[in-house]
Amino acid sequence: MRYLTIHCAATTASMDIGVDEIRQWHLARGFRDVGYHYVIRRDGTLERGRPESQTGAHVGGYNTGNIGVCMAGGVKDDGETPEDNFTAAQWSALDALLTDLHERYPEALIMGHNGFPGHESRGCPCFDWRAYRDALHNEHWSDKPAEWDGHWIEEVDFIT
Ligand SMILES: [Zn+2]
Repeated sequence: MRYLTIHCAATTASMDIGVDEIRQWHLARGFRDVGYHYVIRRDGTLERGRPESQTGAHVGGYNTGNIGVCMAGGVKDDGETPEDNFTAAQWSALDALLTDLHERYPEALIMGHNGFPGHESRGCPCFDWRAYRDALHNEHWSDKPAEWDGHWIEEVDFIT
């Protein structure tokens, strides 16, 4: 696995959506299934999308070896302006999921969607994922072995 990529659903704070709704949206766009591997609902419930063994559809050009995690929320009530409106329960669920994924895929970079070349103009994931990544490391992984320090905090590499 090369990347663990965080997305948001670009839904409002009051929209209680999960993998079933996103699957319908993605099927309507012609995908064969929901594009993400995991969805975190507003209440922090973790839902499974595509199996990890299947390539996702969430970062055009970079889907190979890339697990996609989608947080419900991310926009203001106008339905389009990015807003970091995620719940405490969602942050806890994301911390736990990324910790699990990092243990299983220690070589993978942790990324936000707009960290990929060609995707910089996107609002997704609608929060400062680089600061989040630093906090994850400093606050949640400080008791982890030294091997947990390292390359995962680098930016996306350009070797394809
Ligand atoms: Zn995205």
